[in-house]
Amino acid sequence: MIKTENLNAGYENKNILNNINLQINKGEMVSVVGPNGSGKSTLLKVLSGNMKPDSGEIFINDVEVNKYKSKNLAQVMAFLPQVLKQIPQFTVEELVSFGRFPYTGWNQSLKQEDLDKVKNAINIFDLNNFENRLLAKLSGGERQRARIAMTFAQDTDILLLDEPNTFLDISHQYKILEILSEYNKAKEKTILMVLHDLNQAKRFSDRVIVLEEGKIFADGHPDEVLSESVLEKVFSVNVKISKMEGEYKSIIPLSAVKN
Ligand code: ADP
Ligand code: MG
Repeated sequence: MIKTENLNAGYENKNILNNINLQINKGEMVSVVGPNGSGKSTLLKVLSGNMKPDSGEIFINDVEVNKYKSKNLAQVMAFLPQVLKQIPQFTVEELVSFGRFPYTGWNQSLKQEDLDKVKNAINIFDLNNFENRLLAKLSGGERQRARIAMTFAQDTDILLLDEPNTFLDISHQYKILEILSEYNKAKEKTILMVLHDLNQAKRFSDRVIVLEEGKIFADGHPDEVLSESVLEKVFSVNVKISKMEGEYKSIIPLSAVKN
């Protein structure tokens, strides 16, 4: 689904991503974690075709990402960037409808199937009461749900999500991860997401990739990758990993590592 070869990328003269080789297979749900500034957002920008790498290659379904017409790429892969530069002057319903433009074109009206997908995404993310509200008049969490709903309406096989549950209250954080997990399993959607919360990454991913200073430090099963020693080394935090009720083990932060 997604494959990179010796990927290097950065800003101006500063190299950020350093020789990234990764492969994400169909139907996988993978989290990228790493400290602030480790290159997580840069990785998603490059994979989504929104930023040019300095060298190396990216293949989406075996085709180089920049060989796609933007409309065709948007039918295969949806991207939720971490930050909005500006809040656009649209209502929730208009924003979610943009998810259908790769299929209808900008000037065409939505067919019944498109309208159904928009309505469905609005329902899934609890946005019924806000459909006609301008994005600027929502809370950060409501706006974030509207943005995710747009990527759902896009109905692509691949989702790249940069901190999808940022701004959300704890209930919506879990709700969104549960919706994504269900979507991943029921429809074999491939999901690559940046998550901040390590316990959420552990619980909701088949696989976790740890970035450190633009390099892949670890890549594997969440329980192996999010170990006490990796967290101490990469995140500079002492943790205890504790068995909780049921099958889950929880990461309990104890203190920052002292230099
Ligand atoms: P993360 O998402 O892991 O917190 P980013 O990928 O956003 O990290 O950033 C990685 C590094 O690149 C940081 O040091 C950041 O300051 C730098 N950076 C990010 N965006 C830009 C930009 N537009 N111009 C210059 N430097 C940037
Ligand atoms: Mg980021």
